[in-house]
This record gives sequence, structure tokens and C-alpha cells, in this order.
Amino acid sequence: MNKIEHIGIAVKDMDSAIKIYEQLLNTKCYKIENVESEGVKTAFFKIGDSKIELLEATNPESPIAKFIEKRGVGMHHIAFDVTDIESEIDRLIAEDFQLIQKTPKNGADNKKIAFLHPKSTAGLLVELCQERTD
Ligand code: ZN
Repeated sequence: MNKIEHIGIAVKDMDSAIKIYEQLLNTKCYKIENVESEGVKTAFFKIGDSKIELLEATNPESPIAKFIEKRGVGMHHIAFDVTDIESEIDRLIAEDFQLIQKTPKNGADNKKIAFLHPKSTAGLLVELCQERTD
């Protein structure tokens, strides 16, 4: 894994969360993107090499809606940048980590992504992401 690519934060009200993070980080949100398949709206901020991703549920079945129901708003996941997501998934499976996706899917911000189950990572939802080149 190369670096922390972004930290994902679950929010209930995207408009007010964007305002808060623009003030907090003193930078404008540079991208808002809906990921239809995940039932999630995302907003991205860049600070130096790091990014913050805000996540708002767009329907009640969304994983974000379920997360907020169980754990409340706040930190949702940490995403690590990888060079070759397929081989990283294979490596982690061989190390007995539990992958939520065994084949990567398309995520927000032009990424191929896969999540690791928090059960196998001492409680943290981990996202692997690789920049898409297609
Ligand atoms: Zn993410």
C-alpha cells in the first residue's frame, strides 16, 4: 500500500457538512459525485496529498444509511492507495483478511475500489483504491 488516499466521513446533511468542511479545511469542495450503485452522494476535499470524502446516503437501503443508524455520523473508512488492486486483494485474501469485494468495483473519484470487512481489521472499515486508467 502506498499511502492513505482519503478518509471517508458519513454525514446526514451534505449541504451543511460541505459548509463545515470548507470552513474547517479552508478549501473548497472540488468534486461532488453520486455513486448510484452504492446509494451514496460523495463530496471531496483536497488538503496537501490527502483527501477527505464526505458520504451521504441517497436512499434508506444505502450502506451509509445503515452505518449511521448503527454507529452515528462521523468517521466511516480509511482508503489506502494501491498500485495493483487485483494483486493486493489476492495478497490480503492469502493473509486471511475478509474482503467485502473480491473483485474491484468502480467507486467515486475515478477509482477502482474494494472494501475489507472491519471484523478482520481490528474494527476499521478499510477501502483499497487504485486510480482508473480507462
Ligand atoms: Zn472512500
